[in-house]
Amino acid sequence: MKKTLKDFDFKDKKVLVRVDFNVPLDGEVVTDDKRIVESLPTIKYILENGGSVTLMSHLGRPKGKYNSELSLKPVAKKLEELLGKDIKFLADENVISESVQEEILALKSGEVALLENTRFVPGEEKNDEDFAKELAKNFDIYVNDAFGTSHRGHASNVGVSKYLPSAIGFLIEKEVKYIEGALENPKRPFVAILGGAKVSDKIEVIDNLLEKVDKIIIVGAMAFTFLKSQDIQVGKSLVEEDKLDVAKKILEKADKKNVQVILPIDFVVAEEIKIDSPAAIVPAMNIPANLQGLDIGPMTAKLINMDLQDAKTVIWNGPAGVFEIPTFANGTIAIANTLANLEDAITIIGGGDSASAIAKAGLSDKMSHISTGGGASLEMLEGKVLPGIECIEDK
Ligand code: AMP
Repeated sequence: MKKTLKDFDFKDKKVLVRVDFNVPLDGEVVTDDKRIVESLPTIKYILENGGSVTLMSHLGRPKGKYNSELSLKPVAKKLEELLGKDIKFLADENVISESVQEEILALKSGEVALLENTRFVPGEEKNDEDFAKELAKNFDIYVNDAFGTSHRGHASNVGVSKYLPSAIGFLIEKEVKYIEGALENPKRPFVAILGGAKVSDKIEVIDNLLEKVDKIIIVGAMAFTFLKSQDIQVGKSLVEEDKLDVAKKILEKADKKNVQVILPIDFVVAEEIKIDSPAAIVPAMNIPANLQGLDIGPMTAKLINMDLQDAKTVIWNGPAGVFEIPTFANGTIAIANTLANLEDAITIIGGGDSASAIAKAGLSDKMSHISTGGGASLEMLEGKVLPGIECIEDK
Protein backbone atom coordinates (compact mmCIF):
# COMPACT_ATOMS: atom_id res chain seq x y z
CA MET A 1 0.00 0.00 0.00
CA LYS A 2 1.29 3.42 -0.94
CA LYS A 3 1.21 6.40 1.41
CA THR A 4 -1.77 8.68 0.80
CA LEU A 5 -2.62 12.26 1.79
CA LYS A 6 -4.05 10.99 5.07
CA ASP A 7 -0.57 9.79 6.11
CA PHE A 8 0.82 13.34 6.29
CA ASP A 9 0.40 16.47 8.36
CA PHE A 10 0.44 19.36 5.90
CA LYS A 11 0.47 22.20 8.42
CA ASP A 12 2.98 24.86 7.29
CA LYS A 13 4.39 22.48 4.71
CA LYS A 14 5.38 23.39 1.17
CA VAL A 15 3.86 20.69 -0.99
CA LEU A 16 4.92 19.92 -4.55
CA VAL A 17 2.03 18.28 -6.42
CA ARG A 18 2.32 16.62 -9.84
CA VAL A 19 -1.05 16.85 -11.57
CA ASP A 20 -2.18 15.92 -15.06
CA PHE A 21 -3.19 19.22 -16.65
CA ASN A 22 -2.55 17.84 -20.14
CA VAL A 23 -5.93 19.14 -21.32
CA PRO A 24 -7.26 19.95 -24.80
CA LEU A 25 -6.92 23.64 -25.75
CA ASP A 26 -8.56 25.68 -28.46
CA GLY A 27 -6.22 28.67 -28.59
CA GLU A 28 -6.29 29.89 -25.00
CA VAL A 29 -9.50 28.10 -24.05
CA VAL A 30 -9.55 24.79 -22.15
CA THR A 31 -12.17 22.72 -24.01
CA ASP A 32 -12.40 19.84 -21.52
CA ASP A 33 -11.63 20.56 -17.86
CA LYS A 34 -12.26 17.04 -16.49
CA ARG A 35 -8.62 16.53 -15.50
CA ILE A 36 -8.46 19.91 -13.73
CA VAL A 37 -11.73 19.23 -11.90
CA GLU A 38 -10.44 15.80 -10.82
CA SER A 39 -7.34 17.40 -9.25
CA LEU A 40 -9.34 19.73 -7.00
CA PRO A 41 -9.98 17.38 -4.03
CA THR A 42 -6.21 16.88 -3.50
CA ILE A 43 -5.43 20.60 -3.84
CA LYS A 44 -8.25 21.59 -1.48
CA TYR A 45 -7.30 18.96 1.12
CA ILE A 46 -3.70 20.21 1.34
CA LEU A 47 -4.84 23.85 1.56
CA GLU A 48 -7.49 23.09 4.18
CA ASN A 49 -4.87 21.28 6.24
CA GLY A 50 -2.52 24.24 6.36
CA GLY A 51 -0.10 23.63 3.50
CA SER A 52 0.80 25.57 0.37
CA VAL A 53 0.50 23.87 -3.02
CA THR A 54 2.84 24.19 -5.99
CA LEU A 55 1.48 22.37 -9.00
CA MET A 56 3.41 21.03 -11.96
CA SER A 57 2.27 19.33 -15.15
CA HIS A 58 3.20 18.78 -18.76
CA LEU A 59 1.01 19.87 -21.67
CA GLY A 60 1.30 18.37 -25.15
CA ARG A 61 4.63 17.54 -26.74
CA PRO A 62 6.94 20.57 -26.84
CA LYS A 63 9.95 18.17 -27.03
CA GLY A 64 12.18 19.96 -24.55
CA LYS A 65 11.73 23.46 -26.02
CA TYR A 66 9.64 26.47 -25.07
CA ASN A 67 6.48 26.78 -27.16
CA SER A 68 4.08 29.60 -26.26
CA GLU A 69 1.12 27.59 -27.63
CA LEU A 70 1.76 24.93 -24.99
CA SER A 71 2.08 27.29 -22.03
CA LEU A 72 0.02 26.36 -18.97
CA LYS A 73 -1.24 29.95 -18.70
CA PRO A 74 -4.80 29.14 -19.91
CA VAL A 75 -4.87 26.26 -17.42
CA ALA A 76 -3.92 28.62 -14.58
CA LYS A 77 -6.89 30.81 -15.54
CA LYS A 78 -9.27 27.83 -15.64
CA LEU A 79 -7.97 26.57 -12.30
CA GLU A 80 -8.52 30.02 -10.77
CA GLU A 81 -12.16 29.88 -11.91
CA LEU A 82 -12.69 26.34 -10.61
CA LEU A 83 -10.92 26.86 -7.31
CA GLY A 84 -12.26 30.39 -6.73
CA LYS A 85 -8.79 31.47 -5.69
CA ASP A 86 -5.78 33.35 -7.09
CA ILE A 87 -3.14 31.14 -8.65
CA LYS A 88 0.46 32.35 -8.86
CA PHE A 89 1.43 31.30 -12.36
CA LEU A 90 5.23 31.08 -12.29
CA ALA A 91 5.73 31.73 -16.00
CA ASP A 92 9.32 30.82 -16.75
CA GLU A 93 10.46 29.29 -20.04
CA ASN A 94 12.97 27.18 -18.10
CA VAL A 95 10.30 26.10 -15.57
CA ILE A 96 12.67 26.48 -12.62
CA SER A 97 14.98 29.48 -12.17
CA GLU A 98 16.34 31.56 -9.33
CA SER A 99 13.35 33.89 -9.42
CA VAL A 100 10.91 30.95 -9.45
CA GLN A 101 12.75 29.47 -6.44
CA GLU A 102 12.34 32.80 -4.63
CA GLU A 103 8.60 32.81 -5.35
CA ILE A 104 8.35 29.25 -4.01
CA LEU A 105 10.21 30.25 -0.84
CA ALA A 106 7.83 33.18 -0.35
CA LEU A 107 4.70 31.04 -0.77
CA LYS A 108 2.49 31.05 2.33
CA SER A 109 0.15 28.39 3.70
CA GLY A 110 -3.13 28.42 1.80
CA GLU A 111 -1.52 29.74 -1.41
CA VAL A 112 -1.36 27.96 -4.76
CA ALA A 113 1.29 28.29 -7.47
CA LEU A 114 1.60 26.63 -10.88
CA LEU A 115 4.91 25.98 -12.63
CA GLU A 116 5.25 26.26 -16.42
CA ASN A 117 4.96 23.15 -18.68
CA THR A 118 7.63 20.71 -17.42
CA ARG A 119 8.24 19.38 -20.93
CA PHE A 120 9.79 22.72 -21.94
CA VAL A 121 12.91 21.31 -20.27
CA PRO A 122 14.80 18.49 -22.09
CA GLY A 123 15.58 16.84 -18.75
CA GLU A 124 11.90 16.17 -18.02
CA GLU A 125 11.35 13.17 -20.29
CA LYS A 126 14.92 11.92 -19.66
CA ASN A 127 14.19 11.84 -15.93
CA ASP A 128 17.28 14.00 -15.47
CA GLU A 129 18.53 13.98 -11.89
CA ASP A 130 19.59 17.63 -11.79
CA PHE A 131 16.23 18.83 -13.09
CA ALA A 132 14.39 16.63 -10.58
CA LYS A 133 16.59 17.96 -7.76
CA GLU A 134 15.90 21.56 -8.79
CA LEU A 135 12.16 20.86 -8.85
CA ALA A 136 12.21 19.22 -5.42
CA LYS A 137 14.41 21.88 -3.76
CA ASN A 138 12.57 24.04 -1.22
CA PHE A 139 9.64 21.60 -0.75
CA ASP A 140 8.76 19.41 2.23
CA ILE A 141 6.44 16.80 0.68
CA TYR A 142 5.80 15.46 -2.84
CA VAL A 143 2.34 14.31 -3.90
CA ASN A 144 1.72 12.55 -7.20
CA ASP A 145 -1.84 12.87 -8.46
CA ALA A 146 -1.13 12.71 -12.20
CA PHE A 147 -2.68 9.36 -13.04
CA GLY A 148 -2.63 10.07 -16.79
CA THR A 149 1.18 10.32 -16.72
CA SER A 150 1.87 7.56 -14.20
CA HIS A 151 2.92 5.07 -16.90
CA ARG A 152 5.86 7.39 -17.66
CA GLY A 153 9.03 7.71 -15.59
CA HIS A 154 9.85 11.39 -15.95
CA ALA A 155 11.65 13.92 -13.71
CA SER A 156 8.48 15.68 -12.51
CA ASN A 157 6.58 12.53 -11.54
CA VAL A 158 9.23 9.92 -10.69
CA GLY A 159 12.55 11.82 -10.38
CA VAL A 160 11.39 14.18 -7.63
CA SER A 161 10.22 11.28 -5.44
CA LYS A 162 13.86 10.46 -4.61
CA TYR A 163 14.30 13.71 -2.74
CA LEU A 164 11.10 14.14 -0.74
CA PRO A 165 8.70 12.17 1.47
CA SER A 166 5.91 11.17 -0.89
CA ALA A 167 2.24 10.24 -1.20
CA ILE A 168 -0.32 9.55 -3.91
CA GLY A 169 -3.19 12.04 -4.19
CA PHE A 170 -6.93 11.32 -4.08
CA LEU A 171 -7.27 10.93 -7.86
CA ILE A 172 -4.59 8.24 -8.17
CA GLU A 173 -6.05 6.57 -5.08
CA LYS A 174 -9.47 6.45 -6.77
CA GLU A 175 -8.12 5.21 -10.12
CA VAL A 176 -6.17 2.42 -8.39
CA LYS A 177 -9.13 1.47 -6.22
CA TYR A 178 -11.39 0.91 -9.23
CA ILE A 179 -8.98 -0.55 -11.78
CA GLU A 180 -6.89 -2.70 -9.41
CA GLY A 181 -10.02 -3.59 -7.48
CA ALA A 182 -11.58 -5.00 -10.64
CA LEU A 183 -8.43 -6.87 -11.61
CA GLU A 184 -7.74 -8.34 -8.19
CA ASN A 185 -11.09 -8.88 -6.61
CA PRO A 186 -13.92 -8.39 -9.12
CA LYS A 187 -17.57 -8.95 -8.43
CA ARG A 188 -18.59 -11.59 -10.97
CA PRO A 189 -19.55 -12.00 -13.73
CA PHE A 190 -16.67 -9.76 -14.84
CA VAL A 191 -16.89 -8.66 -18.49
CA ALA A 192 -14.39 -6.70 -20.58
CA ILE A 193 -15.39 -4.81 -23.72
CA LEU A 194 -12.44 -3.98 -25.94
CA GLY A 195 -12.63 -1.91 -29.09
CA GLY A 196 -10.65 0.63 -31.06
CA ALA A 197 -8.44 0.40 -34.08
CA LYS A 198 -5.56 -1.91 -33.36
CA VAL A 199 -5.19 -5.42 -31.96
CA SER A 200 -1.48 -4.73 -31.60
CA ASP A 201 -2.20 -2.02 -28.99
CA LYS A 202 -4.36 -4.35 -26.94
CA ILE A 203 -2.80 -7.81 -27.20
CA GLU A 204 -1.24 -7.60 -23.75
CA VAL A 205 -4.47 -6.27 -22.26
CA ILE A 206 -6.46 -9.15 -23.72
CA ASP A 207 -3.82 -11.62 -22.62
CA ASN A 208 -3.85 -10.35 -19.04
CA LEU A 209 -7.65 -10.05 -18.92
CA LEU A 210 -8.08 -13.65 -20.09
CA GLU A 211 -6.74 -14.64 -16.66
CA LYS A 212 -9.33 -12.50 -14.88
CA VAL A 213 -12.61 -12.08 -16.77
CA ASP A 214 -15.58 -14.33 -17.47
CA LYS A 215 -16.33 -12.84 -20.89
CA ILE A 216 -14.58 -10.63 -23.44
CA ILE A 217 -16.54 -8.65 -26.01
CA ILE A 218 -14.43 -7.54 -28.98
CA VAL A 219 -15.69 -4.64 -31.10
CA GLY A 220 -14.17 -1.87 -33.27
CA ALA A 221 -11.74 -2.52 -36.11
CA MET A 222 -9.97 -5.07 -33.88
CA ALA A 223 -12.85 -7.48 -34.44
CA PHE A 224 -11.91 -7.92 -38.13
CA THR A 225 -8.47 -9.31 -37.34
CA PHE A 226 -10.15 -11.86 -35.05
CA LEU A 227 -12.83 -12.74 -37.64
CA LYS A 228 -10.26 -13.11 -40.40
CA SER A 229 -8.15 -15.36 -38.17
CA GLN A 230 -11.18 -17.68 -38.28
CA ASP A 231 -11.19 -17.53 -42.12
CA ILE A 232 -14.17 -15.18 -42.27
CA GLN A 233 -14.01 -12.71 -45.19
CA VAL A 234 -14.13 -9.10 -44.03
CA GLY A 235 -14.05 -7.16 -47.33
CA LYS A 236 -12.02 -3.95 -47.12
CA SER A 237 -12.25 -3.71 -43.31
CA LEU A 238 -9.13 -2.83 -41.36
CA VAL A 239 -7.12 -6.00 -40.65
CA GLU A 240 -3.68 -6.34 -39.13
CA GLU A 241 -2.41 -9.18 -41.34
CA ASP A 242 0.67 -9.67 -39.17
CA LYS A 243 -1.50 -10.22 -36.10
CA LEU A 244 -3.75 -12.97 -37.49
CA ASP A 245 -1.73 -15.67 -35.72
CA VAL A 246 -1.83 -13.78 -32.44
CA ALA A 247 -5.60 -13.32 -32.73
CA LYS A 248 -6.02 -17.05 -33.41
CA LYS A 249 -3.89 -17.95 -30.38
CA ILE A 250 -5.87 -15.58 -28.17
CA LEU A 251 -9.11 -17.28 -29.20
CA GLU A 252 -7.59 -20.70 -28.48
CA LYS A 253 -6.36 -19.56 -25.08
CA ALA A 254 -9.80 -18.13 -24.25
CA ASP A 255 -11.34 -21.46 -25.17
CA LYS A 256 -8.95 -23.33 -22.87
CA LYS A 257 -9.63 -20.92 -20.04
CA ASN A 258 -13.37 -21.13 -20.53
CA VAL A 259 -13.59 -17.39 -21.18
CA GLN A 260 -16.40 -16.64 -23.59
CA VAL A 261 -15.32 -14.35 -26.47
CA ILE A 262 -18.11 -12.44 -28.17
CA LEU A 263 -17.44 -11.13 -31.67
CA PRO A 264 -19.87 -8.95 -33.69
CA ILE A 265 -22.57 -10.75 -35.69
CA ASP A 266 -23.43 -7.79 -37.95
CA PHE A 267 -21.80 -4.56 -39.11
CA VAL A 268 -22.54 -1.16 -40.56
CA VAL A 269 -20.51 -1.10 -43.77
CA ALA A 270 -19.61 1.62 -46.26
CA GLU A 271 -17.13 2.23 -49.04
CA GLU A 272 -15.23 4.97 -47.28
CA ILE A 273 -14.75 6.56 -43.84
CA LYS A 274 -16.72 9.63 -44.87
CA ILE A 275 -19.80 11.31 -43.54
CA ASP A 276 -21.61 11.00 -46.91
CA SER A 277 -20.51 7.47 -47.80
CA PRO A 278 -23.78 5.44 -48.14
CA ALA A 279 -24.00 2.89 -45.32
CA ALA A 280 -25.70 -0.52 -45.11
CA ILE A 281 -26.11 -3.21 -42.46
CA VAL A 282 -24.84 -6.68 -43.26
CA PRO A 283 -24.29 -9.94 -41.33
CA ALA A 284 -20.68 -10.50 -40.19
CA MET A 285 -20.44 -13.49 -42.53
CA ASN A 286 -21.47 -11.42 -45.55
CA ILE A 287 -19.32 -8.31 -45.75
CA PRO A 288 -19.18 -7.38 -49.48
CA ALA A 289 -15.65 -7.48 -50.91
CA ASN A 290 -15.68 -3.76 -51.85
CA LEU A 291 -16.94 -2.43 -48.47
CA GLN A 292 -15.51 -2.02 -44.97
CA GLY A 293 -17.09 -2.49 -41.56
CA LEU A 294 -17.16 0.82 -39.70
CA ASP A 295 -19.45 0.06 -36.77
CA ILE A 296 -21.12 -2.91 -35.09
CA GLY A 297 -24.68 -3.47 -36.33
CA PRO A 298 -27.94 -3.31 -34.32
CA MET A 299 -28.10 -7.10 -33.75
CA THR A 300 -24.64 -7.01 -32.19
CA ALA A 301 -25.65 -4.06 -30.00
CA LYS A 302 -28.64 -6.11 -28.80
CA LEU A 303 -26.48 -9.18 -28.21
CA ILE A 304 -24.02 -7.11 -26.13
CA ASN A 305 -26.92 -5.67 -24.16
CA MET A 306 -28.18 -9.19 -23.36
CA ASP A 307 -24.69 -10.42 -22.52
CA LEU A 308 -24.15 -7.61 -20.04
CA GLN A 309 -27.41 -7.94 -18.13
CA ASP A 310 -26.01 -10.14 -15.36
CA ALA A 311 -22.57 -8.49 -15.27
CA LYS A 312 -21.39 -7.19 -11.92
CA THR A 313 -18.11 -5.65 -13.12
CA VAL A 314 -17.56 -4.21 -16.60
CA ILE A 315 -14.40 -2.64 -18.00
CA TRP A 316 -14.71 -0.88 -21.36
CA ASN A 317 -11.85 0.44 -23.47
CA GLY A 318 -12.13 1.50 -27.11
CA PRO A 319 -15.04 2.51 -29.36
CA ALA A 320 -17.19 0.02 -31.30
CA GLY A 321 -16.79 1.91 -34.56
CA VAL A 322 -15.69 5.15 -36.16
CA PHE A 323 -17.73 7.03 -33.56
CA GLU A 324 -16.35 10.41 -34.70
CA ILE A 325 -18.79 10.18 -37.66
CA PRO A 326 -22.47 10.03 -36.58
CA THR A 327 -23.39 7.31 -39.15
CA PHE A 328 -20.89 4.99 -37.47
CA ALA A 329 -21.42 6.05 -33.84
CA ASN A 330 -24.60 4.11 -32.98
CA GLY A 331 -22.84 0.96 -31.75
CA THR A 332 -20.64 2.94 -29.37
CA ILE A 333 -23.64 4.94 -28.12
CA ALA A 334 -25.63 1.72 -27.65
CA ILE A 335 -22.88 0.24 -25.47
CA ALA A 336 -22.74 3.47 -23.44
CA ASN A 337 -26.52 3.29 -22.90
CA THR A 338 -26.37 -0.37 -21.92
CA LEU A 339 -23.70 0.34 -19.30
CA ALA A 340 -25.61 3.38 -18.02
CA ASN A 341 -28.69 1.23 -17.39
CA LEU A 342 -26.99 -1.73 -15.69
CA GLU A 343 -28.17 -2.14 -12.14
CA ASP A 344 -25.71 -3.09 -9.42
CA ALA A 345 -22.72 -3.28 -11.74
CA ILE A 346 -19.40 -1.53 -11.30
CA THR A 347 -18.73 0.13 -14.65
CA ILE A 348 -15.19 1.28 -15.38
CA ILE A 349 -14.30 3.25 -18.49
CA GLY A 350 -10.67 3.24 -19.55
CA GLY A 351 -10.46 6.88 -20.64
CA GLY A 352 -9.69 8.12 -24.15
CA ASP A 353 -12.29 7.60 -26.89
CA SER A 354 -14.82 5.59 -24.86
CA ALA A 355 -14.80 8.33 -22.22
CA SER A 356 -15.41 11.05 -24.80
CA ALA A 357 -18.21 9.00 -26.42
CA ILE A 358 -19.88 8.67 -23.00
CA ALA A 359 -19.44 12.38 -22.33
CA LYS A 360 -20.97 13.19 -25.74
CA ALA A 361 -23.96 10.98 -24.91
CA GLY A 362 -24.35 12.84 -21.58
CA LEU A 363 -23.91 9.60 -19.60
CA SER A 364 -20.71 10.31 -17.65
CA ASP A 365 -22.42 10.47 -14.27
CA LYS A 366 -24.02 7.07 -14.83
CA MET A 367 -20.66 5.25 -14.79
CA SER A 368 -18.92 4.11 -11.60
CA HIS A 369 -15.55 5.36 -12.78
CA ILE A 370 -14.18 7.09 -15.87
CA SER A 371 -10.41 6.98 -15.91
CA THR A 372 -8.47 10.19 -16.57
CA GLY A 373 -5.66 8.22 -18.19
CA GLY A 374 -6.21 6.17 -21.35
CA GLY A 375 -2.58 5.01 -21.69
CA ALA A 376 -2.05 4.56 -17.95
CA SER A 377 -5.24 2.56 -17.45
CA LEU A 378 -4.36 0.32 -20.42
CA GLU A 379 -0.97 -0.43 -18.86
CA MET A 380 -2.68 -1.26 -15.58
CA LEU A 381 -5.00 -3.61 -17.46
CA GLU A 382 -1.91 -5.20 -19.02
CA GLY A 383 -0.82 -5.99 -15.46
CA LYS A 384 2.14 -3.61 -15.57
CA VAL A 385 3.49 -1.70 -12.60
CA LEU A 386 3.20 2.05 -13.22
CA PRO A 387 6.46 3.91 -12.39
CA GLY A 388 4.61 7.04 -11.21
CA ILE A 389 2.87 5.00 -8.52
CA GLU A 390 5.66 2.53 -7.80
CA CYS A 391 8.06 5.36 -6.83
CA ILE A 392 5.82 6.55 -3.97
CA GLU A 393 6.70 5.49 -0.40
CA ASP A 394 5.01 2.42 1.01
CA LYS A 395 3.03 2.74 4.23
P1 AMP B 1 -7.83 3.17 -30.34
O1 AMP B 1 -6.98 4.41 -30.28
O2 AMP B 1 -7.09 1.93 -30.69
O3 AMP B 1 -8.73 3.03 -29.13
O4 AMP B 1 -8.80 3.39 -31.59
C1 AMP B 1 -9.74 4.39 -31.66
C2 AMP B 1 -10.06 4.65 -33.09
O5 AMP B 1 -10.52 3.47 -33.69
C3 AMP B 1 -11.15 5.68 -33.29
O6 AMP B 1 -10.59 6.83 -33.86
C4 AMP B 1 -12.13 4.99 -34.25
O7 AMP B 1 -12.54 5.83 -35.30
C5 AMP B 1 -11.32 3.84 -34.79
N1 AMP B 1 -12.16 2.72 -35.21
C6 AMP B 1 -13.06 2.04 -34.48
N2 AMP B 1 -13.70 1.11 -35.23
C7 AMP B 1 -13.19 1.21 -36.48
C8 AMP B 1 -13.44 0.51 -37.69
N3 AMP B 1 -14.35 -0.45 -37.75
N4 AMP B 1 -12.72 0.87 -38.77
C9 AMP B 1 -11.79 1.85 -38.70
N5 AMP B 1 -11.51 2.53 -37.58
C10 AMP B 1 -12.19 2.22 -36.47
